[in-house]
Amino acid sequence: MKIRFELIIFFLIISVLPLSAVVYISYDHSKVAIRDSVMTNLLVATENTGRAIGDWMAARKDDIRIISTIAGNTEKSKLQEYLYSFENEHQGVYQEFFIFNSDGNITFSTLNRTGNVGKERYFMGASQGKQYISDVSLSGITGLPEIIITYPIKKNDTNTEILGARVSMENLYTVIESIDIGKLGEIFIVNNKGELIFHQDRSKILLENINNNFAVKEVTYEKSGVGEYVNYKGDEVLGSYYWLPLYRWGLIVEKNKDEAYTEVLSLERLMVGISFIAVFCVFLLAFLISKRLTEPIKSLKDGANGLVRGQFKTISVSSSNEIGELTEIFNQTAKELLDIRKKLETKIEIANKDLEEKNRELINANDELKKLDSLKSDFISLVSHELKTPLSAIRTSAEFLESENINPSLVDKEMLENIIISVDRLTRLVNDILDLSKIEAGKMEYHFEQVNFHEIAKVALENIQPLALKKNIKVSVDIPGNLSPILGDREKLIIVLNNLLSNALKFTNNEGRILLSAKDDQDNIMVRVEDNGIGMEKDKLVKIFDKFYQVDSTSRRKIGGSGLGLSISSGIIKAHGSEICVESEPGAGSAFFFGLKKFGER
Ligand code: ADP
Repeated sequence: MKIRFELIIFFLIISVLPLSAVVYISYDHSKVAIRDSVMTNLLVATENTGRAIGDWMAARKDDIRIISTIAGNTEKSKLQEYLYSFENEHQGVYQEFFIFNSDGNITFSTLNRTGNVGKERYFMGASQGKQYISDVSLSGITGLPEIIITYPIKKNDTNTEILGARVSMENLYTVIESIDIGKLGEIFIVNNKGELIFHQDRSKILLENINNNFAVKEVTYEKSGVGEYVNYKGDEVLGSYYWLPLYRWGLIVEKNKDEAYTEVLSLERLMVGISFIAVFCVFLLAFLISKRLTEPIKSLKDGANGLVRGQFKTISVSSSNEIGELTEIFNQTAKELLDIRKKLETKIEIANKDLEEKNRELINANDELKKLDSLKSDFISLVSHELKTPLSAIRTSAEFLESENINPSLVDKEMLENIIISVDRLTRLVNDILDLSKIEAGKMEYHFEQVNFHEIAKVALENIQPLALKKNIKVSVDIPGNLSPILGDREKLIIVLNNLLSNALKFTNNEGRILLSAKDDQDNIMVRVEDNGIGMEKDKLVKIFDKFYQVDSTSRRKIGGSGLGLSISSGIIKAHGSEICVESEPGAGSAFFFGLKKFGER
């Protein structure tokens, strides 16, 4: 990894971790504080509203009490006038003022109602001489929620009649609805049975019972408080509840939790935003610092690369710190290195020129040698050729002299035989030299054709038959009748088999064994000539294919040979695209083998 990235990662780690911790801790603290303040606010608002409800109810009770006192001391017609005007003044609060006697018969009503209320609970309540406040009920007149407050009218300390007021709850409801509950919040009042006596949705009033709500249960146990819970609708809410003991009502204000804590959410967003900006700033800072730190290192690296390529330019020193010092040292070292390099290059150039000169001389010498070698081959070829003609003339003459026609007394028979044998050996040697010089000069001519290996084996075996008989050596043949035909030069292959078989005979003691075998092997046939003769040392095996080489020449000279047979055979087999291999062990015998391409195979 590049040092620059490592630095950036390092900066990020050392700054982002503490930064995140700080952001998280402050977020957590602020979150708790906001939650507490949201809860407190809600609780205070609920309590205030609860008190406002109490005040409103107290005002209604006071109104009725005062009017009753006034009624006891006022003339009927004036009282009625007063009641009308009071109702008008408190528009929307009082729906009706009515007065009824101790029998329950209505004697006056601002709604001009008549009838008997003797069976109503408010009649009974007030008949006992006390103020009576009814439960909230749906008005038989307006159909809206209302309460009825009754109070006895006293004249000279005696209960004469009873004043009743039909109080609409709508006016109270507007007080309650001033609490901020957000879009999804709910506000309601329940009585001690859990029945709704106020709800934003008026249609639910006195018709729905939600006493399975946590806050409703709490207020019915006459408790006040605030908390987070899942409400009767299954929504997570922040709820505040307030018990009004005087009326046995519970005021419940529920805010949707997400809505209540929007500040926490926006704080969360703010914190995330701040974190991102901070991380970005740290990243930018880390980037700039690392750039400043790594720039000189990069220049050093470029300088070193340039130095390697021999194109060094002095690096400018931009800082006075350790890297600046290092750059100066580098510049100086680079200059010295370049000087050394130049000197070395000059020396190498001179040495190269010398080498080129020597190389040219070597090439010339090699050319000379090749010319000499070719002259040698030409010479050998010429000499051999020139030797052949007189040799055959000598042989013919010796044979003639040996024949019956000449008087034996005149010729020494043994001498003549020696002459013929020597001439034969000389002829073979000359032929071998000729063949080898042709092979070496690449002038040996080959006539490749389809050859049946049986045929050439037969010829070669016939050639060695006399010597084999003489040495009483058993020559075996293992060639399958259906052996594939090969592609080769018949005459040249006979020379090879002759050489190998006659070597086997020469280097195998009397009574020994020789085996000539051949077998199919994929694209080739494998030919093998083996004997149980004297064998050879391992280290000699590589040399026996060299021309004129004979193992332990002194003792083997008796056996005869020129040391050319294997060189010629190896050259012929190479021309057939193969190679002669040998395995041998002193005293155990030798085996020569090679492959020959089948006819028709590529
Ligand atoms: P030569 O005319 O001497 O046989 P070759 O080139 O045919 O020349 O063989 C080289 C030498 O390799 C031989 O002189 C002999 O020492 C050794 N050699 C060849 N064939 C055999 C064999 N079958 N057993 C032992 N030695 C062998």
